[in-house]
Amino acid sequence: MFPSLSLNSPNPTTVTQFSVAGDINLLNSDPISPLRIAIIGFGNYGQFLAETLISQGHIIFAHSRSDHSSAALRLGVSFFTDLNDLCERHPDVVLLSTSIISTEHILKTLPFQRLRRNTLFVDVFSVKEFAKSLLLQYLPKDFDILCTHPMFGLQSVNSNHGWRGLRFVYDKVRIGEDELRISRCESFLKVFERQGCEMVEMSCADHDKFAASSQFITHTVGRVLEMLKLQSTPINTKGYEALLDLAENICGDSFDLYYGLFVYNKNSLEMLERMDLAFEALRKELFSRLHGVVRKQLFDGEAKKVHFFPNGYGNDASLDMMRSKDVAFKYEYNPELSGSVNDCSRLKIGIVGFGNFGQFLAKTMVKQGHKVLAYSRTDYTDVAAKLGVSYIPDIDDLFEEHPEVILLCTSILSTEKVLKSLPFQRLKRNTLFVDVLSVKEFPRNLFLKALPQDFDILCTHPMFGPESGKNGWNGLSFVFDKVRIGMDDRRKSRCDSFLDIFAREGCSMVEMSCAEHDRHAAGSQFITHTVGRILEKLNLESTPVDTKGYETLLKLVENTAGDSFDLYYGLFLYNPNAMEQLERFHLAFESLKKQLFGRQHYLLHKQLFGNDTQIMLELTGLSTKL
Ligand code: NAP
Repeated sequence: MFPSLSLNSPNPTTVTQFSVAGDINLLNSDPISPLRIAIIGFGNYGQFLAETLISQGHIIFAHSRSDHSSAALRLGVSFFTDLNDLCERHPDVVLLSTSIISTEHILKTLPFQRLRRNTLFVDVFSVKEFAKSLLLQYLPKDFDILCTHPMFGLQSVNSNHGWRGLRFVYDKVRIGEDELRISRCESFLKVFERQGCEMVEMSCADHDKFAASSQFITHTVGRVLEMLKLQSTPINTKGYEALLDLAENICGDSFDLYYGLFVYNKNSLEMLERMDLAFEALRKELFSRLHGVVRKQLFDGEAKKVHFFPNGYGNDASLDMMRSKDVAFKYEYNPELSGSVNDCSRLKIGIVGFGNFGQFLAKTMVKQGHKVLAYSRTDYTDVAAKLGVSYIPDIDDLFEEHPEVILLCTSILSTEKVLKSLPFQRLKRNTLFVDVLSVKEFPRNLFLKALPQDFDILCTHPMFGPESGKNGWNGLSFVFDKVRIGMDDRRKSRCDSFLDIFAREGCSMVEMSCAEHDRHAAGSQFITHTVGRILEKLNLESTPVDTKGYETLLKLVENTAGDSFDLYYGLFLYNPNAMEQLERFHLAFESLKKQLFGRQHYLLHKQLFGNDTQIMLELTGLSTKL
């Protein structure tokens, strides 16, 4: 026993509260009647809660399987190695923060007789029906029971800068009728209210219905991503950043927690199967398309014409020389420029491919005062009119208008075909050609081969889309590579005027070679889209108890679901890393499932064969490292 605090119960005091983030809580003048709270299970989460409880002036005791006495000392908590000693302190509240799977064992061994008969028991388990039934089964009748689930952890509190707005779910399962018991329960709930949590009272059954499946999916995706060891890049999209955050959040939680969600939530197995099927269906979609292309190559003798990967062109060393130091000049944005353009920087831009993304870009170009013309396979006359764009249904007519810039916004897959069909001879000989394809080496090499020598070439990739950029482009990355820009000032300033469109909106302008872009973006982008597409197939829905992690997944689905399958397939086909990324994702998912089922298998064997389990597993060749 290492008592490190005076155990006298102080009178109600005014306590200055510090939140975890260190800022003074606004409710600091509220008087607090300190509760004597015994935390059983003093691991990550127990310590995390203790920090706030202490900051609010409550008196904390703790017990755990492992010796956490030095962490307790640091926090100002009295740590007891012997549960009897802790119970003899007569805490007002016993807060269970053990792993879900160890709870039954702990409840069986708790010396209830040493506690006061009216003690309040609180749990914070992530599955609630199971916790409720255990507490009702094992606790003496005269104990109070409050089942709770703070829908957040250390990481989400850090990224949220405190507990404000995070949800705290509770169910007063059994609270005695007398005043003291009622007010003790309220005092405990006040801990979370004071921190600004959104308090959600709901039955354990409802909690499980809403939260369990969403939580399990969030943890599963987070664990798979963590296994992939994703790295941050200089040009992260918002979606990819959200995935990095999710992986970081989840890896802070123990495997026991995840396993508890799997075993004690009856929806989890079904959810895992649905995710498995969704991933399989996606792989099938990709492979059957790929199969179709290969078959076409073999039977149509088109092999030479179809280029699967950018490397199809990349071996031509002379092309790499095209971005010579002489023509590459530094782009510098003048922050004095106003929101709309003046006459000398106004551009006439011809957009080829006026689908989702072409329209999205046109809106801002028109807003800034540029003249925008558009052509597409489909007739977009009405849409264009609404956006202030002149739609020209004949590409020869559009090119005869002599736009200074041609902006290619077609799908990755159709680029080669579209390029071959364009009547370049109708354009001025010094036209600037720009693309926005999500892969970069492929269009760069294609342009260098297919475009007339005197055209300028600017390869770009706005690292955002209609969803992630719907509230403005400020702070979003815009990658560009001046592949070939003529030396004279008029050409340079035309290229700058085009780049200014994005800089004016506050984009972070990143100049890098197409090859470098593909190295950084290809893997991250493909994984982001893959996760988004798998989740989309699960038809996830928002619930009243969404965690931050689950909200991230819903946002990701929203961001990627709007993109066409062609875009995703383009990333797969023209990104040389995609197949490997898909395989790695598959392996990570398989290995996670193996971990879950392996453990279940082990426990089943243990039930059947007791201590001979290991021998049995080895004899049957099923020995699993757990
Ligand atoms: P997409 O499906 O990649 O492209 C749709 C566009 O391609 C439409 O304009 C469509 O014309 C045209 N197209 C497709 N197949 C064609 C064919 N066989 N012949 C002629 N035109 C064809 O979806 P998107 O979101 O609009 O993307 C356009 C480009 O922007 C892509 O290269 C993409 O990589 C890039 N990009 C997109 C985003 C994004 O968030 N969406 C972000 C950055 C870059 P019709 O509409 O006339 O049929």
